[in-house]
Amino acid sequence: MSQTVAKSNQTKRWQEMDAAHHLHPFTTHHELAKKGARVITKAKGVHIWDSEGNRLIDGMAGLWCVQVGYGREELAEAGYKALKELPFYNTFFQTTHPYAAELSAKLAEVTPKGIDRFFFANSGSEGNDSAVKIIRYYWNLQGKPQKKVIIARKKAYHGVTMASASLSGLTSMHPQADLPLPGFVHIDCPYWYGDGGDMTPEDFGLKIARRLEEKILELGAENIAAFVAEPIQGAGGLIIPPSTYWPEINRICKKYDILLHVDEVICGFGRTGKWFGSDTYGIEPDMINMAKGLSSGYQPIAAVGIGGRIGEAIFNSSEEWSHGFTYSGHPVACAVALANLDVMQKEKLVEKAGGEIGAYFQKKLKELEDHPLVGETRGVGLIGGIELVKDKKTREKYPSELDVGYRCRVHCFDNGLVMRAIGDTMVLSPPLVITKGELDELFGLARRCIDLIAKDLGRS
Ligand code: PMP
Repeated sequence: MSQTVAKSNQTKRWQEMDAAHHLHPFTTHHELAKKGARVITKAKGVHIWDSEGNRLIDGMAGLWCVQVGYGREELAEAGYKALKELPFYNTFFQTTHPYAAELSAKLAEVTPKGIDRFFFANSGSEGNDSAVKIIRYYWNLQGKPQKKVIIARKKAYHGVTMASASLSGLTSMHPQADLPLPGFVHIDCPYWYGDGGDMTPEDFGLKIARRLEEKILELGAENIAAFVAEPIQGAGGLIIPPSTYWPEINRICKKYDILLHVDEVICGFGRTGKWFGSDTYGIEPDMINMAKGLSSGYQPIAAVGIGGRIGEAIFNSSEEWSHGFTYSGHPVACAVALANLDVMQKEKLVEKAGGEIGAYFQKKLKELEDHPLVGETRGVGLIGGIELVKDKKTREKYPSELDVGYRCRVHCFDNGLVMRAIGDTMVLSPPLVITKGELDELFGLARRCIDLIAKDLGRS
């Protein structure tokens, strides 16, 4: 398997410092130390460069976040201006500042109907932890403290803090920290290609949505606080729900008086071709969590959006709400997020993802289905997955020891493309500013790298 070979002394120096002192997210450290981390030094538009001068097209928009592309002066200037004017002030003790006030009002404009109040955090994980506390507080305020159980889904990814990791349904995340915490349960997710067998996607979507009803009836609606889910499951393998899934979930949550918290960290801000995944799928959330695309990743900022009955309950409570971070609504992060949303609106990036560019991306994605290694492609807007399989007819996967997805990703890195592997599903989620010409470059490289892994596996 090829890997990056550090050529320059500078690269080696950074790799050595990194190996000696830096703990990375989701990494087997001694393995990384042996080969040395790839050092990324600059980025512009839809491209990134490593310290050896190699240019890569970033098919993942960083980590599903750089909606407006890299190197945008508007965002840099907004951050610089805020740094000079008000580099920090908190929003505790009955204060605010123009950036937090204006960003809250802007979010009320673009978020799904009924969501009109925003709590700021610094990461998607903190947002979901805050959401769990809001859910508990809401039911306590209603005089229903027994409504405590939160139902989430297998293969869900909601972050890494204690509550967010408990919400997450990727089981590898749990044992190291003795999770999930009590009161978090996981039901099946609508992974039709993997689990649907002979069922139509529509029948399968209904069947899996009704798992929620079954779980509610099993545990008693009087004990269930909320259902938490991503519109499309991202880090769980790009799982696109069949059209029947979300309408049924809406119905069930309403029928049993269960709050619906929608994690829009990946799907928010145009990724699915509308402002939010909830808009794309007709989801009726009580609460949403957003991060990533909110600032295009230029600054760490997240927001939990509430409205309706939760908003009223918290707003009208006679006691102080005991929650908040030093950096909640950080002025620089809010200023950059405002500039980001301004660019998105001026350049009609959501409309493009839902229109011509999204359609072109989906067409190019679908074309990969003629490849002998590709079992299914699936996507919406500017997000897509390519599932690599051993047998197209039976959908049989390769044994996990073969690390097919990981090896394909290595080919991508070596050939100038960032494409993520989740198991054997290759994932794309490029900046929303990507052009048709750049999509041609991206899909040309994707096909070349799938050819290379097919060759390794003796499939061509
Ligand atoms: N929710 C979802 C749906 C995510 O994809 C992620 C991160 N990929 C998170 C929450 C956690 O966000 P963060 O890494 O900013 O804590």
